[in-house]
Amino acid sequence: MGTNVFDELFGKNVFNDDVMQRRLPKDVYKSWKKTLENGEDLNSDIANVVAHAMKEWALEKGATHFTHWFQPMTGITAEKHDSFLSPLSESRAVLEFKGKELIKGEPDASSFPSGGLRATFEARGYTAWDCTSPAFLKEDAAGVILCIPTAFCSYTGEALDKKTPLLRSMEAISKQGVRIMHLMGYDNVKKVSVSVGAEQEYFLVDREKYLKRKDLVFTGRTLFGAMPPKGQEMDDHYFGAIKERIASFMKELNEELWKLGILAKTQHNEVAPAQHELAPIYSTANIATDHNQMIMEMMQKIAKRHGLECLLHEKPFAGVNGSGKHDNWSLIADTGVNLLSPGKEPHKNKLFQLTLAAIIKSVDEYAEILRLSASCPGNDHRLGANEAPPAIISIFLGEQLDDIVKQAIKGTVTSSIHGDDLDTGVHVLPVLHKDATDRNRTSPFAFTGNKFEFRMVGSSMSVADCNIVLNTIVAAEFERIADILENVPDDKKDEEIDNIIKDNITKHKRIIFNGDGYSDDWVFEAERRGLPNIKTMVDAIPYSLEEKSIKVFESQNVFSKTELESRAEIMYENYSKTINIEARTMIDMASKQFIPSAIKYTRELAGSINSVREACPEIDLQVQIDILTEVSKLLADAQKALMKLKNRIAESEDMPEGRAKAEYFNHTIFKVMGELRKPIDKLEMIVDKKDWPVPSYGDLLFEV
Ligand code: ADP
Ligand code: MG
Repeated sequence: MGTNVFDELFGKNVFNDDVMQRRLPKDVYKSWKKTLENGEDLNSDIANVVAHAMKEWALEKGATHFTHWFQPMTGITAEKHDSFLSPLSESRAVLEFKGKELIKGEPDASSFPSGGLRATFEARGYTAWDCTSPAFLKEDAAGVILCIPTAFCSYTGEALDKKTPLLRSMEAISKQGVRIMHLMGYDNVKKVSVSVGAEQEYFLVDREKYLKRKDLVFTGRTLFGAMPPKGQEMDDHYFGAIKERIASFMKELNEELWKLGILAKTQHNEVAPAQHELAPIYSTANIATDHNQMIMEMMQKIAKRHGLECLLHEKPFAGVNGSGKHDNWSLIADTGVNLLSPGKEPHKNKLFQLTLAAIIKSVDEYAEILRLSASCPGNDHRLGANEAPPAIISIFLGEQLDDIVKQAIKGTVTSSIHGDDLDTGVHVLPVLHKDATDRNRTSPFAFTGNKFEFRMVGSSMSVADCNIVLNTIVAAEFERIADILENVPDDKKDEEIDNIIKDNITKHKRIIFNGDGYSDDWVFEAERRGLPNIKTMVDAIPYSLEEKSIKVFESQNVFSKTELESRAEIMYENYSKTINIEARTMIDMASKQFIPSAIKYTRELAGSINSVREACPEIDLQVQIDILTEVSKLLADAQKALMKLKNRIAESEDMPEGRAKAEYFNHTIFKVMGELRKPIDKLEMIVDKKDWPVPSYGDLLFEV
């Protein structure tokens, strides 16, 4: 291969396997690899040599500091920079980086949410290197920093982050997946890994306009704003201009991501104006999660360099499609077998069928916690709003698998549909109506070739949460199946496998839905089937503390009850705080910007009515008077809602954090926010544009 931009850049800033192989003494490299493969603790001699090589590499590339990069429960990443400088004496210093600094850190972590896990006087938290995710360099105007991906735990070992439980869940599913594979004759398998590809949607808007809107700056979404008039979005001129600015952003984003070893293919998204999507090539779940965090960070940083602002909020604009994240998920053994690959003859592929049956059962059984894993305040605006998947969890299988499932229910699977044909077989079913491809877009959990695609996740969220849940619930079901199969004599095993497949699918087929998830019919049908329809984040949180949820997380050593309780606390608090900030921003904007502007406009109108009346008393002034009356009425409505919102917020101030407060924000505050928005949006349509204090939806969406 000759050198091209890609070869030159790819992985340039990653301390990856390649670099290690080149830089580490052979024996060290070998024992390092063995440690990785066997998932053992890193020995301190090896750690010292690795740390030294890592430091030398980073220094050559201009690094001055290192940081333990971690993912606290805020959902974003955190870092605390330390310089490599170590004092030798008062006047001399050396650049040092020891194995123990690589492996363990101790950030002052008292201000990260712990949900009561860590009393403030015992603020200690430890970061531990996740050596399966390579260290990387972050370079920007502030310099070059060596970032070490780490897990974050309390002094007593409780997880304070999203990476620790993710790694635990990956271990759980690997353990049980290996058992299943051994029982099915795949003797060489030592590990089953979770592969994840997280597609990321985002908006780009002009940064100058963005800065003029406090709602965007403080909350990431517009809290007011009338829809732009139709037709404006068809302006070809704007589209021409958009393309070049966006394209140069995308080019730089791609290059920066390549340097970090992230294989990104960027695409334009047609769904909403100013909205785009990026899909990376999949990797192991923990690395994919780290990468998705890096992608979001890079998008925001690079947008600014192009005079743009990247909006990752799930619903930046009411009435315009919001942004999500598709979590593509599959299981791949270290021998290369993808457990979710049906192959050419899915009817003969028992491993695939069993995996599918395990997933169908666990998704049905634990739909509530899967729903919760896609819950954040912003995503409440999307799920079930006819643009994202509904809030009801269901599984889309498509024509071929649906046929297999139907055969399994009848007995054994003996044939597979190929395209439009049917293989000859005993239980052949007539060819079903083929689903249009865009129909399966409405499913929250869709089978797409050799993986499932969980489409509910919000664009700003970490994909750690949903993968923790998926891994855990499927691991638990694998464990149950493996326990059964281990006690069945060899000659009865095949029969038992068929029984399990049949049983799982028969009992849980209600979760399978291949139709239009956006339709009202589905809501009724789902209710008839007894499927949960959990509308909001606050409604979803309590399910994490139900007995069966605690049991499944504990059985797989992913979360203890205490950890689950602390996470629920954090979610309630996060919800209340988010809505509180939104409400306060609304109060601020309404009282300092919109109401004064509308008042000014009424003054102008009244002045003009008076002067016209003076000049020509016989002229009919009814139109002006009507407008003045309407504006005054809307002003009164706005003022009334504003006072109400202020009072409601004041009432919330003494409430302790927790479920009741979150419910208060979810039901009471949220509703009053809507009451305030309504008259203001109407005023925006009437008041002279030059008097309106903030850029409009049209300005933001079409004038990028
Ligand atoms: P679409 O937009 O139709 O959903 P894309 O091709 O844009 O499809 O994205 C598919 C995503 O799925 C990519 O991120 C890709 O890396 C990921 N993917 C493909 N195969 C697997 C797999 N076996 N496991 C996990 N993710 C996968
Ligand atoms: Mg997708």
